[in-house]
Amino acid sequence: MSAVKPDALDHTPLPAAASGIRIPVASPAMPRASDLAPYLERIDTTGWYSNFGPLVLEFEARLAARFAPGTEIVTLANGTLALTLALEALSLPKGSVCALPSWTFVATAHAVRMAGLVPWFVDVQPDTGELTPEGLLAVLPEAPGPVAAAIPVAVMGRPMDSAAWRAFQDATGVKVVIDAAAGFDSAAAARVPVMVSLHATKTLGVGEGGYIASEDLEFSTRLRAMTNFAFMGDRISRHVATNAKLSEYAAAVGLAALDRWASTRRRYVTSARRLAIALSDTPEVTFQEGWGSDWISSTCLVRLPAGSACRIEAFLEAGGISTRRWWESGCHMAPAFRDCPSCALPVTEQLAASTLGLPFFADLGAEQIQRTASTLKVALAGLQP
Ligand SMILES: *Cc1c(COP(=O)(O)O)cnc(C)c1O
Repeated sequence: MSAVKPDALDHTPLPAAASGIRIPVASPAMPRASDLAPYLERIDTTGWYSNFGPLVLEFEARLAARFAPGTEIVTLANGTLALTLALEALSLPKGSVCALPSWTFVATAHAVRMAGLVPWFVDVQPDTGELTPEGLLAVLPEAPGPVAAAIPVAVMGRPMDSAAWRAFQDATGVKVVIDAAAGFDSAAAARVPVMVSLHATKTLGVGEGGYIASEDLEFSTRLRAMTNFAFMGDRISRHVATNAKLSEYAAAVGLAALDRWASTRRRYVTSARRLAIALSDTPEVTFQEGWGSDWISSTCLVRLPAGSACRIEAFLEAGGISTRRWWESGCHMAPAFRDCPSCALPVTEQLAASTLGLPFFADLGAEQIQRTASTLKVALAGLQP
């Protein structure tokens, strides 16, 4: 994206700090090579490189321990494939409708299409940006066809009520899979299947990877078979499937990341608190509820004055501060999904124009926080008529 001169926007002078080094919007907190070494040595010793080896099984067991007893974890090559194969494992009629918010990353909608379903975009709640069971129930009568599934999305990793979605599923027969791609920290219940991404930019990264947590053993068994040619402990392909397994090398990164998670989490929480303090005298900027106290993620999404996100983004960009409109204008605006049926989406459009991802990472420095906060304050002042 090209830098926009701030004086071309609102005649506010460029802050002095703009001469400093550019602040990135994200910086993954990955384990170091030395953290991986003991796990890589185990791979050398066993000579087991993929196909549900000991490191993948240990990684899955440690992830399962974060959920209620009896929760199954299936790891996969990435989060998008995890969503696609979760939908496939539900054996839904091809061409049936899958409801999802447009206020999500395009991966959610890609997964729906790749699974042979029709994405139907529905609007979200104005306070949280989230699709709720009540919100979906209210628009079900407007659906463009029989609704077989729904994928509510955890907005940038905020906690989701999987029990409420289970009640919705039981009441309506609509199968629910939660997309909690950024929800590694907050996802602790899987009354319906929950997908967490392990992409490097997400809360706990292995590079590329993801997992589905579920309390339904039969579903998890089908899903696991979907990741391995529909083999079930033998070499018989029972139906069309694919290869979407996580390798032992990726599991090594995951295990090392889990070893460090308590300390990584503390670093994220400390950065979040410092950023919140630096912006505490700026009531026009609000953080997601509970972010940095009840839960954490690798991104910082803030709400700005209505309609100001693009102008603030351009001003910060010119001041050497990278931001990201993580979900752009909503999925329904992407060329790949313009032809999909959709409800009216006034809240999504409002959120797209009013929310922005600020620079955030585990070791966000005091100077970076001060520069971000002070430049943002100048940008906000420039909005006033
Ligand atoms: C990142 C993301 C995905 C996709 O996960 P990958 O592991 O990158 O494939 C899906 N949904 C949302 C909301 C995401 O942010």
